[in-house]
Amino acid sequence: MPDRSFLDWPFFEQRHRDWAEKLDTWCAKNLPVDHGDVDAACRDLVARLGEAGFLKPTALDTANPGPLDVRTLCLTRETLARHDGLADFAFAMQGLGTGAISLFGTPEQQQWLDRTRAGKAISAFALSEPRSGSDVANMDMTATRDGDDYVLSGEKTWISNGGIADLYTVFARTGEAPGAKGISAFLVPADTPGLEVAERLDVIAPHPLARLSFNDVRVPASALIGKPGEGFRIAMSVLDVFRSTVGAAALGFARRALDETLDRAGNRELFGAPLFDLQMVQGHLADMALDVDAAALLVYRAAWTKDMGAPRVTREAAMAKLFATDRAQQVIDRAVQIHGGDGVRRGHIVESLYREIRALRIYEGASDVQKVVIARQIK
Ligand SMILES: Cc1cc2nc3c(=O)[nH]c(=O)nc-3n(C[C@H](O)[C@H](O)[C@H](O)COP(=O)(O)OP(=O)(O)OC[C@H]3O[C@@H](n4cnc5c(N)ncnc54)[C@H](O)[C@@H]3O)c2cc1C
Repeated sequence: MPDRSFLDWPFFEQRHRDWAEKLDTWCAKNLPVDHGDVDAACRDLVARLGEAGFLKPTALDTANPGPLDVRTLCLTRETLARHDGLADFAFAMQGLGTGAISLFGTPEQQQWLDRTRAGKAISAFALSEPRSGSDVANMDMTATRDGDDYVLSGEKTWISNGGIADLYTVFARTGEAPGAKGISAFLVPADTPGLEVAERLDVIAPHPLARLSFNDVRVPASALIGKPGEGFRIAMSVLDVFRSTVGAAALGFARRALDETLDRAGNRELFGAPLFDLQMVQGHLADMALDVDAAALLVYRAAWTKDMGAPRVTREAAMAKLFATDRAQQVIDRAVQIHGGDGVRRGHIVESLYREIRALRIYEGASDVQKVVIARQIK
């Protein structure tokens, strides 16, 4: 039985507890899904999550505008990740892909949000490039003004939902100033001529992922999100909201690993007694539980702080992401160990968690980058 006692923590309101319970019930009935065809699985997950109303927190409600509720985003990612990594992915990208539009979009651009929140359109966030992942301000892709249009040229890579998205938030150099101050954000519908999937990328926990090429992609000036030169600030504002949710997903994976391990240790007999009775195993379980609770405290502190109106939660979100993802890796590694040979058997739940967790320590700012961010914040 998963530990739900954290829901009583003062970070949450009753609506959060109700939401988590409702979602958990839905997940128990509908997840996990077959990951054989990740494109089809993601399309289906987005449609079904949307139909059930669970994508609503991912973006601004245009009929009732207000800030995104980061606690709900985190609770949702934690719960989905505990049941199925691909479901968490499908949910997360609807938020990350539209974050810039929720926070800085025009009313016309925000019309997309009714569709993404209903699961009727899929979104993606296109920031990284082959030469600039961590060093994002060094991007090469250009957007050149041409009359009433901008023309986008270059490449984006590691783009989640690349190939199945209906709309992309794309960052490109418009040249107002060198480096970070010369980047702008654009809303680019997937069917815009010149936007092509150059390569599909296969990773250890597969999801739709692609390298995209922009061959003179012409968009109207109304596709600009925010003002020219504000793209880097927009990207950082979006990550400020969504970074702690990566920690929440890691927390969901770690919780599942702990639950599976408790179950295993209780049921497997070794040396004439349950595995649980070995004190070394108890030591591992205690360390796992400690990591899970400490990660939860950091994740929900970051979410609560943002929800209470803090303009930025750079330090809190970086700490939450760094700690929760790194410790989840350790928790899952211990789970694999305690499962013995079964832990590395393809298709076993802890084997899939072992693969699922790894990329979270790299994307949306690698662990080392989070350390640099934290150090700068505490200086
Ligand atoms: C599964 C997956 C999904 C992704 N989805 C998206 C997406 O949807 N949209 C998108 O735009 N991008 C996405 N990314 C890209 C991701 O954000 C980048 O991979 C990440 O920022 C790292 O960039 P890089 O791969 O170029 O590695 P590099 O920038 O080459 O960094 C390599 C390593 O160097 C170290 N390092 C880097 N900078 C520093 C520093 N300042 N101090 C100390 N050490 C440092 C870190 O250990 C880092 O992991 C995704 C990546 C993956 C793996």
